[in-house]
Amino acid sequence: MKDRHSDVIIIGGGPAGLTAALYCRRAGYSVTVFEGGMPGGKLNVTLEIDNYPGAPGTEGPSLAMTMLSQAEEAGTNIVYEQVTGLSLQETLKTVTTESGSYSCHALIVASGSENRKLGVPGEDKFTGRGVSYCATCDGGFFKGMDVAVCGGGNTALEEAQYLSEICSKVYLIHRRNEFRGSAINVERTKSKPNVELVLSATVSAIEGSDRVESVRVRRADGSEISIPVSAVFIAIGSAPITSFIPEGTLALAPDGSIEVDALMRTSVPGIFAAGDVRNTPLRQIVTATADGALAAASAGKYLAEIGRA
Ligand code: NAP
Repeated sequence: MKDRHSDVIIIGGGPAGLTAALYCRRAGYSVTVFEGGMPGGKLNVTLEIDNYPGAPGTEGPSLAMTMLSQAEEAGTNIVYEQVTGLSLQETLKTVTTESGSYSCHALIVASGSENRKLGVPGEDKFTGRGVSYCATCDGGFFKGMDVAVCGGGNTALEEAQYLSEICSKVYLIHRRNEFRGSAINVERTKSKPNVELVLSATVSAIEGSDRVESVRVRRADGSEISIPVSAVFIAIGSAPITSFIPEGTLALAPDGSIEVDALMRTSVPGIFAAGDVRNTPLRQIVTATADGALAAASAGKYLAEIGRA
């Protein structure tokens, strides 16, 4: 029989959610984390991490497993179910999953973000047949072939670098002539002899018969070219996952992320948000874990205020 009530429920078992769980458990609260996929979130698709202080060269999935075990050893209850809805009744919050409902007094939303789509012809048709949103997951299928990466942020730059090691040629297609990603990542990408930059250009279609055979690119002057490739890796950022939150429940920022203050408090008392799902200028592991710790501290303060400490 599952325990259907916890002091704190955390939606999402990525770095933000698992850190919040660890801190809440260490403060003595009962905690349930809901995770609908793999614990660790985007860490699972990060091959190597070199900017998380104290752990240079760590592999993402390994850090994810360490964070998970640390939270579990601290006594966190992890439930592998997708949250589909939530409702608020005075101080009690109810989270709905496919198996029923669970209640808590403090709720931390750490549901992360999902890949943005280009919305061009061929993208859906060829997803899984040459269109991918994760080079570290699918790059191996295209060993020795020509591929394209679309995007200009750190993810696109790192995917291009990774693919350059296993593919014959990588076209990096970006809509502007300057990259959004960091200078060091831009330099590393430019130093790869088999990466060709296709700048001020947008993908207008992904073409082929049964699998991807080419990517159609529109240049700034309106001309179009077709580049023969076996795969297109789309890395154009992500959108916060908030579909389980009823409209009007929480204040959202214009980009759809959850508005929080410096203490991770949302517009509703007792609900906090942390990590990629909240309005943040920087989406990194270090900012997600910091958010998780702050959200946990704020949840503890809230529980004390309502007499649940
Ligand atoms: P991002 O920084 O938001 O970059 C998205 C890129 O896609 C931008 O270059 C954007 O172009 C482009 N783009 C967006 N919509 C597009 C569209 N419809 N068509 C064509 N291009 C489009 O996303 P990200 O690279 O996934 O990174 C997300 C966060 O994680 C960032 O904060 C990033 O720094 C961080 N991150 C950090 C590391 C690291 O530190 N090693 C690694 C990966 C990710 P514009 O530039 O023209 O807007």
